[in-house]
Amino acid sequence: MSGVWETFLTWLFPHKCFGCGELVGQEAFVCEECAQQLPWAKGGCPRCGKPVRACVCSQLEALDGAGAPLWYEGIVRQGIHRYKYSGRQYYATFLGALMADCFRERMSGLGLEAIVYIPLHPRKQRQRGFCQTQRLAAKVSEATGLPVLEEVLLHTGRGKAQMSQRTFEDRRKNAARSFDIWEDVDLTGKRLLLIDDVFTSGRTLDTCARLLKEQGAERVWGLTAAITRSSYG
Ligand SMILES: [Zn+2]
Ligand SMILES: [Zn+2]
Repeated sequence: MSGVWETFLTWLFPHKCFGCGELVGQEAFVCEECAQQLPWAKGGCPRCGKPVRACVCSQLEALDGAGAPLWYEGIVRQGIHRYKYSGRQYYATFLGALMADCFRERMSGLGLEAIVYIPLHPRKQRQRGFCQTQRLAAKVSEATGLPVLEEVLLHTGRGKAQMSQRTFEDRRKNAARSFDIWEDVDLTGKRLLLIDDVFTSGRTLDTCARLLKEQGAERVWGLTAAITRSSYG
C-alpha cells in the first residue's frame, strides 16, 4: 500500500490499541498501558526461541532456527486475533516493525537474503480478503531491505486447521498435507527467512522449511510475530 493511501485510511479510521481495542489516534498502535504490558519474548533458546524448558530444537528437522519478538499470550493473543479476524490490517505495520527489530537483533549475522511466507488456506484468504503473513512479510521487507519471493510455497487446501490437531505427530502429518511448493522453483543455495504469524508447535514452519530445502535452499530461519511458551500449543 502506498504511503499516501495509508495516511488517508488512518485519518479516516483512527487506530485502535492492539492490546485493549481503545482508540489511540492516528500514529500509535498501542496505548501506554498496553505498551508496558507487552510480553517480550526474551531469554529463550537461541535456536528455536522457546523458553529453554520447552525447547523444541530436537524436533526440528529442516528449520535451522526461529525467532519472535513477543510471547503469544494475553494482549498479544487478543491483538493477533483482531489482526486476523477483525480487519485491523494496520497491525501488520506494528507487528512487522517488531519482527524486523527481532530479525536485526537475532538473525542479522546469518546471511539471510530473501523472504518467503507461509500461505493462507485459500478459503480463509477469500473470507478475510487478505493474507496476514503476506502483509507481515511485506512490512519486514520494507524495514530490512530483503526482497519477498512470491509463488514459492502454496497451500493445498487439503489439511485441517493446525489448532485442531492434538499431538505433535498429528500436526506434522497435517502440515505435510497442507503445504506444497510451486513447480520449478529453484532455490539453490538460497538462505531464506520464512515468515508466519505465530510459532506454536513449529510443525508448519518445519514442514515448509523442508519443502524449501528440497528445492535447494541452504538455510531457513523462521520469523513470527509471536511464539507460545509451551512446546506444543
Ligand atoms: Zn491498550
Ligand atoms: Zn531450542
